Amino acid sequence: MIRAIEFPDPAEFRRRELPGSFHIDLTQGGPNGAAFWFFCPCGCDGPSRIPIGLRIKPETEPSWSWNGSLSEPTLSPSVRQLNCGWHGWLRDGYWESV
Ligand SMILES: [Zn+2]
Repeated sequence: MIRAIEFPDPAEFRRRELPGSFHIDLTQGGPNGAAFWFFCPCGCDGPSRIPIGLRIKPETEPSWSWNGSLSEPTLSPSVRQLNCGWHGWLRDGYWESV
């Protein structure tokens, strides 16, 4: 399992390129929505961006429900990366491949 480290600063997030790390942009996604930026746990090129909702799954597809935690984030459903094939869950702050 890979720890999901949050970077509040998007510039530092992009500079570090830490696999499994993430940055949440609350200015994207509308009310109760946000953009979840992350570097794939497998270490491939990134970052990727997916739309999330605070404890709700936005109506846009595809999208994910986020539990609201920055230290122990959970996303639902699972995340599948089309470019590298990585597939797994972010649960309680850890990426777990399936
Ligand atoms: Zn990957």
